Formats: sequence, C-alpha cells, structure tokens
Amino acid sequence: MASDCVFCKIAAGEIDSRVLYRDELATAFWDIHPVAPLHILIVPNRHISSVNEMNAEDEALVGHLVYVAKLVAKEQGVDQAGYRLSINTGPNAGQSVFHIHVHLLAGKPLPIHIG
Ligand code: AMP
Ligand code: ZN
Repeated sequence: MASDCVFCKIAAGEIDSRVLYRDELATAFWDIHPVAPLHILIVPNRHISSVNEMNAEDEALVGHLVYVAKLVAKEQGVDQAGYRLSINTGPNAGQSVFHIHVHLLAGKPLPIHIG
C-alpha cells in the first residue's frame, strides 16, 4: 500500500467512504464529487498509480475492475439503460488521484465528447 494514497486507504477500510462492493481484489465506492446521477469508482485493492504503470501481470486485475463495474451497474439497475466506464491517465486526461480507478457513470443520457 502507498501510505499517502487515499484510494489505498479506502480499499483497506482505513478511511470512511461509501463502499458498495468489496472482494479480495477490488473495491467500489461512491465518488465524493459526482458528475452524473450515479458516479461510482472501482479500484484495485493493490496500488497501481495509473495505466502507465500497469505491468503485464496486472492485466487480469484491471480486467477485473471492468467485471466489477458490470456487477455494480446491474445491482444499481443501470445496466440496460447504459453507462460509461472511463479511466483517466495523466495530466491531459485530468487524472487527479494516482491510484488507477474506473469511473462508472450512469443515470442519464451522458454527453458524448472527447475533450
Ligand atoms: P480522476 O480525475 O480520474 O483522477 O478522478 C478522481 C476522482 O476521485 C474524482 O472524481 C474525485 O471526486 C474522486 N475522489 C477523490 N477523493 C475521493 C474520496 N475520498 N472518496 C471518493 N471519491 C474521491
Ligand atoms: Zn493507492
């Protein structure tokens, strides 16, 4: 665990957050500044700073984040209406927390824009 990483602390249950799902590999919790009616973050319990720091052996773990997103989307009842999964990487994408995370956004028609 990175000692100064807020998402490591949430995954370890060391700081409060609204956790919806947890297993041995990943944790899902509500984003504190939602930009959609449903805005959930899915993180690996093990620290990986960003997609840039992924190793080949992290492939299945990052794939698991997408699988957890699918489970949470279904459990929240947004799977059929649809949702967006996104992973911001680096400054130009606006990454602000350097522990890899998948944004699950849903609950309304989402604007389609690339920047
Ligand atoms: P990104 O810009 O992709 O790095 O996204 C970071 C996200 O983490 C933002 O949407 C923040 O609102 C969210 N966030 C930051 N700190 C927390 C926290 N303690 N609990 C829940 N969400 C957080
Ligand atoms: Zn971390």
